[in-house]
Amino acid sequence: MTGMTSSARPLLNRRLAEFGTTIFAEMSALALSTGSINLGQGFPDTDGPEEVREAAVRALRDGRGNQYPPGPGVPELRTAIAAHQEHHYGLSWDPDTEVLVTAGATEAIAAALLALVEPGDEVVALEPYYDSYAACIAMAGGTRVPVTLRPDDGRFRLDLDELRAAVTDRTRLLLINTPHNPTGTVLTREELTAVAELAVERDLLVVTDEVYEHLVFDEAEHLPLATFPGMRERTVTIGSAGKTFSFTGWKVGWITAAPGLVSAVRSAKQFLTYVSSGPFQYAVAEALALPESYFTAFREDMRAKRDLLATGLKDAGFEVFRTAGTYFITTDIRPLGETDGFAFCRALPERAGVVAIPNAVFYDHREAGAPFVRFAFCKRTEVLEEAAQRLKTLAG
Ligand SMILES: *Cc1c(COP(=O)(O)O)cnc(C)c1O
Repeated sequence: MTGMTSSARPLLNRRLAEFGTTIFAEMSALALSTGSINLGQGFPDTDGPEEVREAAVRALRDGRGNQYPPGPGVPELRTAIAAHQEHHYGLSWDPDTEVLVTAGATEAIAAALLALVEPGDEVVALEPYYDSYAACIAMAGGTRVPVTLRPDDGRFRLDLDELRAAVTDRTRLLLINTPHNPTGTVLTREELTAVAELAVERDLLVVTDEVYEHLVFDEAEHLPLATFPGMRERTVTIGSAGKTFSFTGWKVGWITAAPGLVSAVRSAKQFLTYVSSGPFQYAVAEALALPESYFTAFREDMRAKRDLLATGLKDAGFEVFRTAGTYFITTDIRPLGETDGFAFCRALPERAGVVAIPNAVFYDHREAGAPFVRFAFCKRTEVLEEAAQRLKTLAG
């Protein structure tokens, strides 16, 4: 196939033409062919809690969720999501009208944008952005307006003046992600206050991707945007079981929002998957009710992994940005005498037997992201130790 029909019209439509295959496919293939350790894609190499897996098996055996579950999600899960938001953040949502279960956060993002964006609307998103944002904005017919997070004193920071300047009369919504993939930054109270004030002042909707809400380290604190003044009624908050419970294959995600927003997003969602992950929904309902000790131990474990990989990367000669949250460390390759993250990542498997992702793929302003490279640390300790050992060859 050449991608062309006889009429010479490209098969892939114009909205999606700029999005080729993702970098993850190329890098994962490279990992396989070179026998490299794959720190490219962010999925854990161990499964989540045994009791949660058992809950899924039980649901499946008991015939719960084997047929189409209710459109908004099973009541047990919607109730558990509401209880979780109340317990952790003091946010109260009605499980019947303010919670919607989706096929992972990925569908929540797609459905929210397809529902809320009119062709021609501008969507302001933090750059670098998660790889589905740009494609979903395009599928909705929107125009993306990136606001670049810039390194400052060891972390990536949101420039509040740039954010204000990005909003025009055509702006419909702000698409926010905190804790932030790929930079590992967690937006501060000051940054989030400014986002909230801007949204209220300009009467914007906000879609906030908070799938790493439980992966915040050290002094960092996850502050849901919906808790800020004036935000509850204009914010769609996206969560997911994938990252919090290490079951990325289950694809159980959700939104919490005011009834009108939930109803709008549901209108789009019903024609995407309609429903998904029946038995897993029951298991995730149990997972969300796990005691505090689960969340604390999970966070501690990931913090130790972050420290292990960060030390290895520093020893190898990278500049390492502080990871306050997520699965990822962003590095700067310039201290290694390199400037092009793409070329560096294509060569790294041969040079050191490790795969990483060039952050430039997450930017519209490719040059702004050129020297940054992302490594995932959601891997077993021995895998990270081996990776750190291998990366030492870069230090010469
Ligand atoms: C992994 C990830 C998602 C997708 O979550 P799923 O529940 O697996 O669909 C969405 N947003 C961000 C920032 C992610 O890292």
